[in-house]
Amino acid sequence: MTRPLELRIGVLPGDGIGPEVVPAAELVIDAALASRPDVKITWQRLAIGHEAISRYGTPMPEETLEVLDELDAWILGPHDSASYPDRWRTQLTPGGTIRKRFELFANIRPARAFPGTAAVSPKMDLIVVRENTEGFYADRNMYAGAGEFMPTPDVAMAVGVVTRRACERIAHEAFRLARTRRRRVTIAHKANVLSMTSGLFLETCLDVADRYPEVEVDHQHIDALAALLVRHADAFDVIVAENMFGDILSDLTGELAGSIGNAPSLNTSETKAMAQATHGAAPDIAGLGIANPTAVILSSAMLLRCLGARHEHSALGRTASRIEAAVETVIGQGVCTADLGGTASTAGFIDAVVAAMGS
Ligand code: ATP
Repeated sequence: MTRPLELRIGVLPGDGIGPEVVPAAELVIDAALASRPDVKITWQRLAIGHEAISRYGTPMPEETLEVLDELDAWILGPHDSASYPDRWRTQLTPGGTIRKRFELFANIRPARAFPGTAAVSPKMDLIVVRENTEGFYADRNMYAGAGEFMPTPDVAMAVGVVTRRACERIAHEAFRLARTRRRRVTIAHKANVLSMTSGLFLETCLDVADRYPEVEVDHQHIDALAALLVRHADAFDVIVAENMFGDILSDLTGELAGSIGNAPSLNTSETKAMAQATHGAAPDIAGLGIANPTAVILSSAMLLRCLGARHEHSALGRTASRIEAAVETVIGQGVCTADLGGTASTAGFIDAVVAAMGS
């Protein structure tokens, strides 16, 4: 038995399918840790999105942010900002606000095809490392004011920002991660057109690559990379990308691996960590009880592994591996939600994962 560890983890269910899939994380982690009295997790439920609009009058209340300030880790559900009343639609989304406020600069998005799923690329096992704080998403690029504006009703402009510091730290994340895997990093860019912004991203990543001689590096134009991924996703190990390219690529890689409903992600700063499925609120299937909770479950396993490393508590890493193995077993047995071609409900899938951990 290792030394006791007490953790307080936030749970923010969010919008759309969020309240159906986010509780899966809590259920599965509690079940996985049931036999470990040395790890105690207290869950702290917090409001964002529509729930927060009705309780606090805003989708991203300061009350929620103040509690997050005190926490090291939380699980963020999706936000359906397109459905918010007009006054919030032009503002930074709850997810964007949280990433910006806590400088969660690294978004780690694995895409691995599970045996038994009809993946486009059944052998793929890659990770998209997405820069999370700047780039071509203008909404988070300003200290004050909006990064998107319209000088006339017929002209819209957006400000992209790329800094050497942000490129350096995300490149280090990618190369450190590659060292623990197949030792290959691909830099996604468009420096042939955006020679200064994307050019600085490419140049800085290549400079950082020199410090990791054991890792092979190459670079691809973002459009060519999208095509190569469809053809040969299994050839890639770690892909590092600026914010918008990384967001788009990781939806593509998630779907190539079987379903975006399987694609997990972790957002980190030096001190905080946030689990968040790659998918959005999926309003088209919200409330039907058929959403795939895999991405949330696997994101929370990533969170546990990260907390285990930060607190030097190896049991958390082993618990994360048990959760991942249980998900893989259940999907391998053909217990799948509709997005994977199965008939399992969200609740039925969660029950099967919990049962697989017990067996
Ligand atoms: P965002 O901009 O927030 O990423 P989006 O509108 O681009 O959101 P999603 O909400 O991720 O996209 O939905 C894209 C498609 O994938 C929808 O058809 C949705 O039903 C499906 N989908 C997303 N997540 C899941 C899930 N967990 N289970 C099943 N299907 C899902």
